Amino acid sequence: MIYLDYTSTTPVRDEVLKSFIETTKNFWGNPSSLYKFGVISDNLLNMARDQMRHLIDAKKYEVIFTGSATEASNLAIKGIAYENRKRGKHLITTVVEHPSVYHTFEKLKDEGFEVTFLDVEKDGRINLETLKKTIRKDTILVSMMYVNNEIGSIMPIKEVGEILKHHHKICFHVDVVQALGKIPVRLKEMNVDLATISAHKIYGLKGSGALFFRKGIKLTPQQIGGTQEFNLRAGTVDVPSAVALAKAMRLALEDIEDNYHYVMKLNRRMRDILSKYDEIIINSNAEHSSPFIINCSLKGIKGETFVRAFEQRDIYFSTKSACSSKVVSPSRVLKAIGLDDDLAMNEVRFSLSHLTTNKEIDTFEEVLHDVINELN
Ligand code: PLP
Repeated sequence: MIYLDYTSTTPVRDEVLKSFIETTKNFWGNPSSLYKFGVISDNLLNMARDQMRHLIDAKKYEVIFTGSATEASNLAIKGIAYENRKRGKHLITTVVEHPSVYHTFEKLKDEGFEVTFLDVEKDGRINLETLKKTIRKDTILVSMMYVNNEIGSIMPIKEVGEILKHHHKICFHVDVVQALGKIPVRLKEMNVDLATISAHKIYGLKGSGALFFRKGIKLTPQQIGGTQEFNLRAGTVDVPSAVALAKAMRLALEDIEDNYHYVMKLNRRMRDILSKYDEIIINSNAEHSSPFIINCSLKGIKGETFVRAFEQRDIYFSTKSACSSKVVSPSRVLKAIGLDDDLAMNEVRFSLSHLTTNKEIDTFEEVLHDVINELN
């Protein structure tokens, strides 16, 4: 199998799985229990939090473990909106957010919040001047992703953080799911107040994510019950998943620079190969995108037909981001960067990893040649 869909999900690292299994077997006490066996679990949980804080320059942040990045973003966005509704009802996000953020804002809009969905330029990034003009006296939250999961565009998060530094009433939430382990993520330096991460994008387990938030920030809980996770996420904490997430994060950050340079070389090779064909248009901007993602549109070929032709040869990549791949409509993200309906409908996304080999790219090149001839 040749897997070119690492943006959808990643295989679990052996070391991560090992720490999950060992913690499950040996430290299964309830971290909320008062006796020693429970306290050991609680200590492990807090060690995982500490390690994660330390890894991304977030010593003054709290970490809440969640069941996914989707849950973490829901908690961040709704939590801030509901908690601060008396201070203001204006929220800012972008038109290219992941559904977990985009639809949460749509829901808040239905509930009476005023939401500005910022447009993006051709390269998939917001215009900072537009952002400045959009900020109002009653703005309470700005939320945007660091790396776009569909086209790989990198938002100017540090610059946005600089702008928001002068607006003390506004909280800044960033979905760093596709950035973590690939490009540097330093919360304090970027002036980010809340950040969402997911384990299964960094060779961790599915059903595991976390929300970082600056100490002192108040959130309205979205799940009511016991007092776990600072009273913000009721339910017995899954300590083995938390320990495994901290491990996945540490390993993902270990070789970040080498992996980046390696994947950048693969990206250049892929771009050279893809640009030989008139039927393929590369949508990911070469300058301002993550090298881990290459999004293309197909001319005269259906995205699904193309993906199926590769599937028959045991090569896998997406037509759309996994969360929307069953929705047959032009991509909201590609429309936002100016593509027409046809091109925005027939997209394919290749995503790379440090696990991708040059030999796999050689095979992909040969198969691409055959598939294009076949489909023509
Ligand atoms: N945010 C981004 C940018 C993503 O790519 C994804 C997953 O596709 C998510 C959020 C959701 O992650 P999870 O599957 O952990 O809810």
